[in-house]
Amino acid sequence: MKSGSSGSLTGGKPLTASPVPETTPHCSLCSGHAVYHDRISGRYLCRDHFIANIESRVTETIRSRKMIQPGDHVGIGLSGGKDSTALLMILSRLLPSLDGVRLTAITIDEGIAGYREDTIRSADELVKKYKIPQVSVSFTVLFGNTLDAFLKGREPEACTVCGILRRKALIAGAEQAGITKLATGHNLDDEAQSVFMNVLRGDLPRLVRDSASDSQGWFIPRIKPLMHVSEKELAVYLMLHGAWPDLPECPYAVHALRMEVRTMLATLEVKHPGTMLHLLESKAQIEAHCAGALVVEPVRHCRECGDACSGEICQLCMLKRRLGIGGS
Ligand SMILES: [Zn+2]
Ligand SMILES: [Zn+2]
Repeated sequence: MKSGSSGSLTGGKPLTASPVPETTPHCSLCSGHAVYHDRISGRYLCRDHFIANIESRVTETIRSRKMIQPGDHVGIGLSGGKDSTALLMILSRLLPSLDGVRLTAITIDEGIAGYREDTIRSADELVKKYKIPQVSVSFTVLFGNTLDAFLKGREPEACTVCGILRRKALIAGAEQAGITKLATGHNLDDEAQSVFMNVLRGDLPRLVRDSASDSQGWFIPRIKPLMHVSEKELAVYLMLHGAWPDLPECPYAVHALRMEVRTMLATLEVKHPGTMLHLLESKAQIEAHCAGALVVEPVRHCRECGDACSGEICQLCMLKRRLGIGGS
């Protein structure tokens, strides 16, 4: 559990499944005992109202952004980690209210020793429990070797390399499953980090393009139903369902700029609740006012593989050359 969101379990207790002591405040909406204090709204919430609050916010995000249409076949990028576990649970619970929608989990095995085995086991157990079909794609089958092997001596580039290969693997899984939307477990923290990182890199077009990513090179629209729910809220949601996966973090994450940004934003969020939401609002305002003025490169097609890209050769083909990966 990382520190740094604008809420806390009541009583300042560590996040455990232990019952809330009698002395804790009451829920702001009923007479039940509060399990969570939302520092942005100031409200205390009991278990049921906390769960209802998370699910109604996800429902509203899906509705307002028209993420899922009747009859959609939604693929869930299921790593087995905390965010994608919460995504699968929430979408499963919302499924009866989604007209004719089907779910399929897509799990990518990148080949990361000492990390992936546990999360894949967790993903397998989850799809069995929720009776959701699953498609698995491994880097070894798709690219001929594991991520660990590709990254020997290139560890600082881990997230970039993995991101490009994972994207291809997800598309392969999505096409195999025949889905119409691809849902990923990106949460509010992830989105705020991305906004901040694009600003740090001076990459305003990418900031806007990210938000419009549904049509940029993805044959299958991507959706992020958890984008307005914080990492900490998702952790509490999982614990309240007794579904907290006690899993290791990706060993390569320490090399990423994102890790530094994450720590910094988490600290700011504690001192100034609402910081992460404000970053998302800033992005929305930039989109609304400046998007038309930014030069967005037209989508072209890769000379080697034909996939949509912004230059002559796509990132994947360039990476394959560099890593000596054959095939297409
Ligand atoms: Zn309540
Ligand atoms: Zn290509």
